[in-house]
Amino acid sequence: MGYAHEIYALRYATMSPRTPHMNFLLPDPHDTTAADLDYFVWLIRGNGRDILVDTGFNAEEAELRSRKLTLNPVDALAAFGVAASDIKDVIVTHLHYDHAGNLDRFPSARFHLQEREMSYATGRCMCNGLLRHPFSVEHVTLMVRHVYGERVTFHSGAGEVAPGVSVHRVGGHSDGLQVVKVETARGPLVLASDATHYYANLQKRSPFPIVYNIGDMAMGWEIVERLAGHPDRYIPGHDPLVAEIYPRASDKVDAFALHVEPSRSFVK
Ligand SMILES: [Zn+2]
Ligand SMILES: [Zn+2]
Repeated sequence: MGYAHEIYALRYATMSPRTPHMNFLLPDPHDTTAADLDYFVWLIRGNGRDILVDTGFNAEEAELRSRKLTLNPVDALAAFGVAASDIKDVIVTHLHYDHAGNLDRFPSARFHLQEREMSYATGRCMCNGLLRHPFSVEHVTLMVRHVYGERVTFHSGAGEVAPGVSVHRVGGHSDGLQVVKVETARGPLVLASDATHYYANLQKRSPFPIVYNIGDMAMGWEIVERLAGHPDRYIPGHDPLVAEIYPRASDKVDAFALHVEPSRSFVK
């Protein structure tokens, strides 16, 4: 039998307004409006442990990039009775600024990262401004410090973080991007992170404009679909729809329960 994890999406920031060109590399010419971009981290609870997926950004980074931070996601964990110092495992889907900040806030954690993401974020591609833009050298430097402190578990492709929780490299958007598959009571759920920013990127096979390798991104959509096994069981990284179709899970913070069925199905 599987493991019935609970999964919560914590929304900590939003960016609006946006244009279709910000959400799709080749937008539908008839589209005149574009969805906001929501920022999330995800808390996985089960088998007596809490696993955090991604670490968000802090107020300083929000200021630097003119983003509107509602609440540092590390502080939002308190609404679930979780102290950052208690977290033993943090999965970092990739090292972009909105997924890998606050790395100094988890003194007891191991960080699960794809080997290729560390190479990509510290290699020659970072000499290029376009590719470098979504990264923060301060975040990447902290991860390097964690490597030297023997606190990073490197995964190459697929890897297990805990029973019923596994990571899978998809690349594409960032060379070492990984998605997270979690066993829940409603079947395997895939936290797709930036493998698909919006449901529409995957559904329409229409890439988000920040992309390192379009071929890998396209293959990544298929990996996400295969791992999830059902269109209602993958969760895009930045879609405001997530907050609409999943029930609110806290009256203190912007959190949504993903382990229950959504109010709207994507089955055609
Ligand atoms: Zn990203
Ligand atoms: Zn992102």
